[in-house]
Amino acid sequence: MYRTHLCGELRTSHTGQTVTLAGWVNRRRDHGGVAFFDLRDRAGLVQVTINPDLPKEVLDQVASVRNEWVLQIEGVVQKRPEGMANTKMETGEVEIIAKNVIVLNASKTPPFMVNTDADLPDENMRLKYRYIDLRRERLTRNMVLRHKVIKFMRDYLDEQGFIEIETPIMFKATPEGARDYLVPSRVYPGQFYALPQSPQQLKQLLMVAGMDKYFQIARCFRDEDLRGDRQPEFTQLDLEMSYVHRDDVLNLVEGLFTKMIPAVAPHKKLYSSPWPKFSYKEVLERFGSDKPDLRFGMELIDLTDVLAKSEFKVFQSALEAGGVIKCIVAPKSAEMSRKELDALTEVAKTFGAKGMPYLAITAEGVKGSAAKFFKEEELAALKEKTGAGVGDLIVFASDARAVVNKTLGGLRLWFRDKLDLADKSMMAFAWVVDFPFFAFNEETQAWESEHHPFTMPKMEDLPKFDTNPGDVYSEAYDMVCNGYETASGSIRIHRRDIQMKMFQMLGLSDEDIQTKFGHMLEAFEYGAPPHGGMAPGIDRLVMLLADEPNIREVIAFPKNQNGRDVMADAPSEVEPKQLKELHIKFS
Ligand code: ASP
Repeated sequence: MYRTHLCGELRTSHTGQTVTLAGWVNRRRDHGGVAFFDLRDRAGLVQVTINPDLPKEVLDQVASVRNEWVLQIEGVVQKRPEGMANTKMETGEVEIIAKNVIVLNASKTPPFMVNTDADLPDENMRLKYRYIDLRRERLTRNMVLRHKVIKFMRDYLDEQGFIEIETPIMFKATPEGARDYLVPSRVYPGQFYALPQSPQQLKQLLMVAGMDKYFQIARCFRDEDLRGDRQPEFTQLDLEMSYVHRDDVLNLVEGLFTKMIPAVAPHKKLYSSPWPKFSYKEVLERFGSDKPDLRFGMELIDLTDVLAKSEFKVFQSALEAGGVIKCIVAPKSAEMSRKELDALTEVAKTFGAKGMPYLAITAEGVKGSAAKFFKEEELAALKEKTGAGVGDLIVFASDARAVVNKTLGGLRLWFRDKLDLADKSMMAFAWVVDFPFFAFNEETQAWESEHHPFTMPKMEDLPKFDTNPGDVYSEAYDMVCNGYETASGSIRIHRRDIQMKMFQMLGLSDEDIQTKFGHMLEAFEYGAPPHGGMAPGIDRLVMLLADEPNIREVIAFPKNQNGRDVMADAPSEVEPKQLKELHIKFS
C-alpha cells in the first residue's frame, strides 16, 4: 500500500497513529540537525519532521531531497508542542515524526515554485509546465471546485428527471455566430466534419426523439478572434426540455443555481431570490448594458426632459438629431484631477461618445467643463432628479440613445473598478428577456439572428417578419451575473414553416438551406414537440465562484491568450504523409 492517509486530512484526532503518506516536498527547512518537510498531496500539506536519530541510510537519502521530490513517508502523528501550532495550515496542529523515508522519484529544480503565489511567473511559463503549475494549492482548489459544480449539476438534473446524453464532436456546422473548426475526412476527399459550436441542433433532435429532458456537460468549439477572455474550446451545461414555456426553463435553471451556490461556494452571497427579471430594453436604459452588474447602483438617469432647453451646444445638437441626454453620478469623485478626467474622456470615446461633459459638485459650488452652461433652475432640477450632492461627479452623455447607453454603461463599470463599488462576495444573478429577434448588420446590409437561427420569435410578431423585422421580438433569454453573460437560451422553433422563413430572412438560398439544415427541416416534419433550453457556461461560472481573474485559471489545460497550447506546442505542423492522406495541399 503506497499510503494510508492523505497529507491534508490529518488532524489531532489522528494523534498516535502510524501513517504512511506519499506526496511532493512543498518546502524543505533544516534546523539544528532536524529536517522539516512540508509534504503535499491534493488534499493539502502536512509537516514531516526528520530527526537525526533515524538510520544512516534513511538520513543519507534525506540529505539530497529537494522541493518537488516525490516521497513516501512512514511516521507517527504527533500533536505539535504548545505554542508551535501553525494556524495557517489546516493540519497545523500536528506533525509527522518520520520513521522511514523512501524517495519515489527525484525532481529537477522546477522552473518556478508552486509553494507560493507571490511573484507568479509569466503565464506562458506556467502553461508550458502546467502539470507543475496545477500542483499549486490555488489551482488544485479550482479543479476541485469545478468538479463539485459539475457533480452538483449532474445530481440536481438527475433528480429533476433529466438524462445525460453524449452528442458527437465530429458533426456538421452548427452555427452560433463564430467560425467552425473543420476536420478533414481521409475517406471522403474534399469533405469535412465540423466541430459543434454547441450541441444546439443535436439537442433539439433529441427532443424530436422524445428524450424529453436532456443535459450534457458539453464541449463547444468556436474559432473566434482571440479577443478578451476566450478559449477556442469551452464547456457548457447544455440542456433542453420538451413541452415548456420560457419560465419553466428559467425556473429550472434558477432553482439549480440557487441551491448550488451555497453548496459549492458557501462564501458567496446571492443578490436576491427570486432573481430579478429585466427586459432587454430596460437593462440598456438603466445599466447601459445587456449584461448588467447589479452589485452596485449608479444607474443611468435620463435628463432629456430636464435639459430640453439647455443652452449647451453639445446637448442641443444631440437633441436636434433626435438623441437623448443621460448621466451617471459617481460618488466621491468630485475631486478627480484634470488629468484623470481627460483620461476618462478618452475611455468615453472608445464607446462612441464624442466627448464627456461633466459637473463636479464641490463645497465651493459646481465646477466642470459644462458648468457655465447650466442655468440655476436647471442645476436645481438636475440635483433633484439625480440626488447628487457635494462630492459627487455627474458625467453626461448626449447622442443617439444607443451611443449614450453604451458610453455610460462602460463608464459605470470603469467607476465600479476604480472605486471598488462591487461586493466581491456577491453573485448577482438576473434574467434578461424580450430580446430583439434580428440584428441588422450594417457591414453586410443584412439581417442576422440576434441569438441563433433556431430561436422562436414571439408568435404575435410573426406578421412583422416581412414588414419591419427590427420590431420582431424573440423568445430568447440570458442569465447574467456580475456583468457577465453566464448563459443564454431560448424557446425554439419547432415548426418547419417558421424555421424555413427564418433561414430565408437570413438570406440563405433554398439550396444552402437544404445542404446545411435539411436534416433539421426534415425532422420538424415528423412530430417535433415544442421545446426550449439553455446553456450556462461552466468556465466563467467557476471563475466567478473561485474569484479568479480569467477562465484559464479554472481550466486544467487551457490555450494561452494567442490560442496556443504551449505545453504540447499545438497547433503544429504535421507529416507530409498525413496531409497527403487527407488530400490537403497548400498552394
Ligand atoms: N446553443 C446556445 C449557445 O451555445 C445555448 C442555447 O440556446 O441553449 O449559446
